[in-house]
Amino acid sequence: MFIQVNNLNKSFHNEPVLKNIHVSIGEGETVAIIGPSGAGKSTFLRTLNGLEKPTSGEIIIDGMAVTSLDTDLQKVREKVGMVFQQFNLFKHMTVIDNVAYGLIRVKNVPKEEARSRALTYLDRVGLKDKANRYPHELSGGEKQRVAIARTLAVEPKVILFDEPTSSLDPEMVKEVLVVMKSLAQAGYTILVVTHEMGFARYVANRILFMVKGEIIEDTTPDVFFTQPQTERAKAFLDQILDRYL
Ligand code: ADP
Ligand code: MG
Repeated sequence: MFIQVNNLNKSFHNEPVLKNIHVSIGEGETVAIIGPSGAGKSTFLRTLNGLEKPTSGEIIIDGMAVTSLDTDLQKVREKVGMVFQQFNLFKHMTVIDNVAYGLIRVKNVPKEEARSRALTYLDRVGLKDKANRYPHELSGGEKQRVAIARTLAVEPKVILFDEPTSSLDPEMVKEVLVVMKSLAQAGYTILVVTHEMGFARYVANRILFMVKGEIIEDTTPDVFFTQPQTERAKAFLDQILDRYL
């Protein structure tokens, strides 16, 4: 399998946060991870690119043993990009330099070539015309699209999104989801923690529903949204629907 997670456990201060996670994900899948706050969703994503070290278990991504001690985590992070809720752009750098930064610093690409590649990725997220702006001159949706371009520039195979639209004003959510959908269609392997149920239902091909450190449903969006198997998932979906009443 492209991503193979075996018996993954993670504790903080002896409190288990991930409990025996076992999951296989194929190349090109778009997986939505949903579940209540504190379920371990962010921790799970962070273990996948080595930002968090598991207590035990094994993660192999595209043949690379993320959890092995002698694996270069820099290489893991080149293969597995991550986009956060907070965009974390460098405030003192222009948009194009933000996107080129990883290429120059991590991949040793010469500056001019890095900037030219950065432009290609800015074009891809619809922001070529903002290349010379500074982050404070952009809307939240634009900043998140720059953050996505920055991740794409390193040419990852897998992109992890942790609530990429949660800090955006409602009118900016769609422009980010549209970019994410285009990446899903382009064949990137995507794992996204999201509260955007429309995206989970209609763009993802698979839902992982997490509660208290466990994946308690691993199924298709159709099944999850129309015939959830667990009481916990039913209650979660009911709560989400209640928001619209
Ligand atoms: P979610 O993203 O589903 O809301 P998290 O993965 O952020 O959940 O957190 C799961 C649990 O792990 C929570 O109880 C949280 O307080 C705890 N936790 C997360 N990160 C740390 C950390 N660095 N140190 C201690 N506890 C943590
Ligand atoms: Mg989280």
